[in-house]
Order: sequence, then structure tokens, then C-alpha cells
Amino acid sequence: MPYEANSILLQVTVACTWNKCKFCGMYEYPFRPSPVSEIEADLQEVARYGTSADRVHLVGANPFALSFAKLRDLADMIHKYLPQVKSIGGFGRITDITPKTDEQLKELRSLGYDGIIIGAESGDDATLEFMNKGFKTKDTLEQLQRLERAGISYDLNHMNGLAGAGKGKFHAMASAELYNKLHPRIINITELNVNAGSALEKEIQSGNFQEPDLAERLEEQLVFIENLKIPTVVYFFPNNPSGALVVGAFPRDKEKVIKNLQNALTRN
Ligand code: SF4
Repeated sequence: MPYEANSILLQVTVACTWNKCKFCGMYEYPFRPSPVSEIEADLQEVARYGTSADRVHLVGANPFALSFAKLRDLADMIHKYLPQVKSIGGFGRITDITPKTDEQLKELRSLGYDGIIIGAESGDDATLEFMNKGFKTKDTLEQLQRLERAGISYDLNHMNGLAGAGKGKFHAMASAELYNKLHPRIINITELNVNAGSALEKEIQSGNFQEPDLAERLEEQLVFIENLKIPTVVYFFPNNPSGALVVGAFPRDKEKVIKNLQNALTRN
């Protein structure tokens, strides 16, 4: 994430515990936590070189899957070698929050865990099920509200185009409706990409899924933004139809972003 550019990147896991989302071709190897000795050696090296960075970003598809005890011990080790560190983030799945108790979440917050990046992707159950995300919208709502009660801020990854051709408007409205019930610090809008060899590519070849075209993708973004009512920061990533990284603080920039999308739509 561009906003983690100044964070210390610390490898603590490799790959994803789930590894079954149809659109994802990220990992060909199984999830593996890094050995503690390796993490400690990395922290010692960072401390030796010296840094004033006060945030650590844990590397891996979902390091938040580590147990409460492992995350607690990890935070203790980070604070031992890098006492200036104030917050610790990284990616997590909705299902990584579920096994942690409310008390454990609060303790993780007090240890510095904050700004966790969560792949919500969609506010539509049929889309989540087809893409094999492994959770439903009610889980997204419940688990993120648990993070909020524990005081842990989070960023949402949302995937434009994920419901397929002909369903863009509906997907945008359902997703905005879900996120409007939450308080994400940031919403990252990524764009559906069909990876070679992915399960989604096979679904397309079998005629079970059709990608939306450029105009529909833009319209979906527009409807999503029009229906998004919460104060947050929205990042459009470079693989979006406009081809550039765009950032907007909402509600301040909402009208400007809507105008840009409307202009892009008339050109396509
Ligand atoms: S999209 Fe995220 S949760 Fe799904 S398989 Fe890929 S890395 Fe894992």
C-alpha cells in the first residue's frame, strides 16, 4: 500500500492461510509463519542500521491470522528492538478476527496493532460465495464492528467489477450499503483482474462468468462513490479504468471524484 511507504516492512508470514479466492493467483505455495529466530534477526538488523520510523507493516497475505499469543509475543519483540514503534499493521482476513476474543483484540490494540488492511472486496453475498471468499457480508459487519469496539482502526479493500458483467450497479450499491454501516479509515478500490491459471479464468472459459467492460466498470465506480455516505479516505489503485492512483478525502472530495468519473464515462 502506498501509504505504508514509510513503515518498516517486517516479514512474519509467507502466503495466505485461505488461498482459495477464485480471482487470486497470488500464491502457489502454502502459508508459513516465519521462524521466530528469523524475525528477531531482522529486527536486530533494523535496530543496528537505525531508523526513526514509528510504524511496522507486517508482510504476508494475512499475518493477522497468527494467534493472539504469537501476535502478542511479536509485538513485545518489536518494542524490545525498536522502542520508538507506536503502531503495527498488516493484512488480515475477516476470518482472522473471529477466533480472537474481545479482550484479546483490546490487548492487541494496547500493544500497538492498528490500521489493519482487510480484504472485504464486496457487499454482496452471492458474489462473495461465487468467488469463494470464505465469509459472508454479515461476518464482515460483525467482525469489523468488533475491531471498532476494540479501538483497532482498519482499511477495507474493495474490488470493483467483482460481481461480473451486468451486475456492476447492483454490486456498487450493495457494497456501499454495507460499508456505510462501518467506519473504515481508508477504502482501497482495486479492480478485478483475471489472472492466468486462476479458478476465475476457468469459470470464464466455462461460460460461468463474464468480465464487465470498461464503461460498466466506470459506472460501477461512479455508483459506488455516489452511494458512499461515510467520512473516509478513498484510494483508486492504478489498475482502475482511469489508469492512475487517485486519492480523495470524503466527503470533501466526493463531488470532484464524481465529476471525474462522469467525465471518464462520457469519453468511453
Ligand atoms: S485474495 Fe487474499 S484471502 Fe483470498 S486467496 Fe488471495 S491472498 Fe488469500
